[in-house]
Amino acid sequence: MPPESSRHIIFTENLTKIYAAGRIQVAAVRGVSLAVEPGEFVAIVGPSGSGKSTLFYLLGGLTRATEGRVVIDGVDFAALSDAQRTRLRKHRIGFVFQKFNLLPTLSAMGNIEIAYTVSGRASGPNGVPMDLKYLDHLSDMLAIRGRLEHRPAELSGGEQQRVAIARALITRPAIVLADEPTGNLDTKNSDAVLQMLLRSNRELGQTTLMITHNPEAAAIAGRILHMRDGQIVHESAGSGSTVAAQPVSAAPAGSPS
Ligand code: ADP
Repeated sequence: MPPESSRHIIFTENLTKIYAAGRIQVAAVRGVSLAVEPGEFVAIVGPSGSGKSTLFYLLGGLTRATEGRVVIDGVDFAALSDAQRTRLRKHRIGFVFQKFNLLPTLSAMGNIEIAYTVSGRASGPNGVPMDLKYLDHLSDMLAIRGRLEHRPAELSGGEQQRVAIARALITRPAIVLADEPTGNLDTKNSDAVLQMLLRSNRELGQTTLMITHNPEAAAIAGRILHMRDGQIVHESAGSGSTVAAQPVSAAPAGSPS
């Protein structure tokens, strides 16, 4: 593997996704090459239909590329079977979605615990139980400590999204992928959630890639990539400074990988 792809935590080369709808082909992502350093906070911004969600699915291993490469944390998705790709996704990627996607019958704590179990970190001979001290730290950072016994319906949208961020962070993922994380929130809650993502980037050194159509949300990132018609057409600096490559506590404790 060339050094380029192993130095970066996210690396894509000529990434292309063509959807076939009958005889019509839609090139949703067209030859995207991007490289993200460990500890960076990158926003991808662009109008509706510019290919942001498709790029998110490709980076998250949720769909296969038509052409090109995706290398996450040194692992080339194309070289993996579907089962291996699923395992990598559960183990190394934390997702934050616009609609929170919390399980309604479980408490906030239950949602976080089940994400940890599903990640596979607790199982097998090298399994490590969920780090409750780390959860305390995340709960304080995200201001949800007193809300963990509540079910999603008993929480505000902003609280639900902060629980979803805790759920994403508890596995100490290599990258957090956030898709329109403030899309369902009012301005006050949006600001709080963006600040939480920024804190997790700064304090934990968490590499974060956020997709948004909102330029104000994108502005908090260290680097903003502008998408149009399936391509990255422009790059600009955001207000958030990026963290150096030595995160304080982002090393996955007892990670078998
Ligand atoms: P964005 O997230 O920026 O709104 P998308 O990635 O959803 O953009 O869409 C990019 C383009 O790909 C659009 O033209 C959209 O209509 C098309 N597209 C997205 N998903 C599909 C699909 N499953 N089948 C066919 N076309 C699709």
